[in-house]
Amino acid sequence: MAIGQIPKNFDPRKFARQGRQFEGSLALNQFGQLVNSLVDDKGEVQVALNFSLSESNRVVLEGRIDAKLSMICQRCLDVASIPVRAEFSLMGVLTDEQAKALPEEYEPLMYGDEPVELVPLLEEELILAVPLVAYHSLEECSAQQFYSTETEKEARAAAVEAEEEREEESPFSVLAKLKTDTTI
Ligand SMILES: [Zn+2]
Repeated sequence: MAIGQIPKNFDPRKFARQGRQFEGSLALNQFGQLVNSLVDDKGEVQVALNFSLSESNRVVLEGRIDAKLSMICQRCLDVASIPVRAEFSLMGVLTDEQAKALPEEYEPLMYGDEPVELVPLLEEELILAVPLVAYHSLEECSAQQFYSTETEKEARAAAVEAEEEREEESPFSVLAKLKTDTTI
């Protein structure tokens, strides 16, 4: 089946059965909640979606979102265009119980009789992928010459710590935190 334009909403069961694929772009300014934390709302979000049925006949939605988001570089305090990519695998669920019992590699896609709105779903995935602290790449940053390597190290450690605080206290993040603590 041909690749279609990004739909505004969708019927998960129908699209999965038909194996529908979509590719296209959406205006960034539709993502109101995300845009609130950005410098501006100009630009586009590239989206690719692939619906299928699992072996157990469940709805599967795999997707990829790419965007360049304007954020303040925390090194030079100028605007930086930060490339952000979110990839996700969702499996259709009808109840909380089903959501809890999902295989580890899937996030739940809750649906009922109504069509599912696409933008809120994509926005949630994109927000999770946005870095808490943004920097230009070193080559592009106007502040690079003013910073010693020590300051750079501290800035990176702070960024790592901020990322960790976002994560749940998994054994891995506890280990990583111990490591960070000893190097400061
Ligand atoms: Zn910068």
